[in-house]
Amino acid sequence: MPVAAFQDNYIWVVHDGRSAAVVDPGDAAPVETFLARHGLALCAILATHHHPDHVGGIARLVEQHRVPVFGPRAEPIPALTQAVGEGDTAAIAALGIEFSVLEIPGHTRAHIAYYRPGTLFCGDTLFAGGCGRIFEGTPEQMFASLQKLAALPDDTQVYCAHEYTLANLRFARAVEPENAALQAREARERARRAEAQPTVPSALGAERATNPFLRCGEPAVMAAASARLGAPLSDPVRVFAAIREWKNRF
Ligand code: ZN
Ligand code: FE
Repeated sequence: MPVAAFQDNYIWVVHDGRSAAVVDPGDAAPVETFLARHGLALCAILATHHHPDHVGGIARLVEQHRVPVFGPRAEPIPALTQAVGEGDTAAIAALGIEFSVLEIPGHTRAHIAYYRPGTLFCGDTLFAGGCGRIFEGTPEQMFASLQKLAALPDDTQVYCAHEYTLANLRFARAVEPENAALQAREARERARRAEAQPTVPSALGAERATNPFLRCGEPAVMAAASARLGAPLSDPVRVFAAIREWKNRF
């Protein structure tokens, strides 16, 4: 379930009707409101990276709730109790579930994702129709991180942390104007937003078919990146870097 925060953040809540874990609580107030309204007890906090719009609510939440705080080992996460990295498991005992931790650096230098079959919480790395900006890592790292996520099963639901989808798809259409799956998706997501529905989560299979940042080996994306740069590109990492730069200015 999404809890809307700030302008366009989503704080994801995983619950069983009694206990609830929250992912990236940038603000405490909307989380408290959600917990109270649904009669839920907070049981864990999961952080993907250190940006304030993802961790800003943690300090206040742990004042009210004594719960474990999972987060990347190499980033400053408030009240961190369970420092995790690649290959670790984030076990949420109260919910009887566990997530595998994937390291996906690029947006920040130690950004992580939480994955269990069917569900991916990926913070600001993979967005619906796009990807995060590269603030602390390199294009090579971000590309490798996105490839790692793209290798998950098609039916994986991608829970990213922002509602950026329509702007992302508008850019995607500039890159791949002939992509029919992309055109169909853009129409579908526009209709959702017109009814104030979230466009997140999305299926990873749909991302692979429409998200240009997962399609850097596709001839159409390579051609668009090459045309943009005025030089032929064939290395998918350089294609990725070129379209990420293009998006920064779009
Ligand atoms: Zn961020
Ligand atoms: Fe963010």
